[in-house]
Amino acid sequence: MTAQIPAHKKAKGLPRGSVRPAKALCSDCGLCDTHFIHYVKEACAFLNQQFDKLETKVHGRKRDLDQEQEMYFGVHQKMVAARKTEPIEGAQWTGIVSSLACKMLEEKLVEGVVCVQSSPDDRFQPMPIIATTPEEILAARVNKPTLSPNLTILEQIEQGEFKKLLVIGVGCQIQALRAVQDKLGLEKLYVLGLPCVDNVTRAGLQKFLDTTSRSPETVVYYEFMQDFKVHFKHEDGSTETVPFFGLKTNQLKDVFAPSCMSCFDYTNGLADLVVGYMGAPFGWQWMVVRNETGQEMFDLVADQIETQPVSSKGDRRAAVQNSIPAYDKGVTLPMWAAKLMGIVIEKIGPKGLEYAKFSIDSHFTRNYLYTRRNYPGKLEAHVPEFAKKIVAQYELPKD
Ligand code: FAD
Ligand code: SF4
Repeated sequence: MTAQIPAHKKAKGLPRGSVRPAKALCSDCGLCDTHFIHYVKEACAFLNQQFDKLETKVHGRKRDLDQEQEMYFGVHQKMVAARKTEPIEGAQWTGIVSSLACKMLEEKLVEGVVCVQSSPDDRFQPMPIIATTPEEILAARVNKPTLSPNLTILEQIEQGEFKKLLVIGVGCQIQALRAVQDKLGLEKLYVLGLPCVDNVTRAGLQKFLDTTSRSPETVVYYEFMQDFKVHFKHEDGSTETVPFFGLKTNQLKDVFAPSCMSCFDYTNGLADLVVGYMGAPFGWQWMVVRNETGQEMFDLVADQIETQPVSSKGDRRAAVQNSIPAYDKGVTLPMWAAKLMGIVIEKIGPKGLEYAKFSIDSHFTRNYLYTRRNYPGKLEAHVPEFAKKIVAQYELPKD
């Protein structure tokens, strides 16, 4: 008897650079580079919003919208602030992600780890790989702050006959992965999610660096941090900070990718374990265990990290409401006023989980307006119920 060839194997991925099915909204997640494009209508995060279905598939239930914590952060069993007792040099924060990936490989829980190295001639150009050694994982540490086609590795999973895999990725990549995971022939899939917002193409990144940093060509790392400043690290080891309120919003309005302007999966709701920073005090990382698999992953690094309970302070609502028209009109403050505002807001502004909610509220209201104006026909189906409820707390411009 001949084995049945799966339908997707007859399809052919698109060449790089060609228009994808989601057109301008494509986040270049990589799925359409492979024969898994066969499933694009169902799997693409921008063509088919299916949080309820996929949360139920992955976590056994959808998020409970009557609990504010779940409405914001998704299905979870626990959240903590954490940092490595011995941080990894050159990691984005303290290197919890890379450490966990190395440990899973060393313990033979997985045979490969999907992660993102830099292309050899450009540190900010992402190069997704399936790492099979700790050295390859460590070479992928630190964010490549640009859209990364992580799912281009889907065909390699089949060819390499991987059975146990860890995938590290951002929300849009993980949504598409979850939709096709049953077709990959895996025995076990672990998903380590990163929160993600305001991503850019490589050209968009250059514009952001050119308009924001004093020395764009020497930037090796940047992060929007909980102290309401963008922190840049330069090749010579120096740090430069720019207050959020001093960003040249008028010039940066179009810099973010349309996919990211219409995304509502900031906290990576379909991962097993999420590692970010947004719900933690300054200098700490934020870990969200979503299900049993996530707890198994958390336990593997428990002896390498110190933890503290998550906390929450302040009230974000007035700041979010005030930021809606300011962002909409592209208001840019003079640098002295931006610095002053930064100092005040850092002292009295939202902290911990309240900061995370501030960031979610600001981005969801902005993205809701963007989707309503640019894709009115998609609005109802594309915006998930939890995001509609979050946005409904605010007064939006009428147009
Ligand atoms: P490291 O040990 O340095 O490992 C970093 C990992 O990121 C590597 O495994 C690498 O494979 C992966 N990676 C790098 N670039 C990409 C990419 N473009 N796409 C997918 N994976 C990638 N956290 C927040 O709390 N709030 C945010 O707004 C936020 N935005 C982010 C935006 C982007 C584009 C990315 C990639 C991450 C973002 N994060 C955000 C997550 C955060 O910045 C850290 O990556 C996370 O806390 C892990 O830190 P670490 O030191 O443990 O990671
Ligand atoms: Fe294809 Fe991914 Fe782009 Fe959607 S986001 S069109 S699945 S490459």
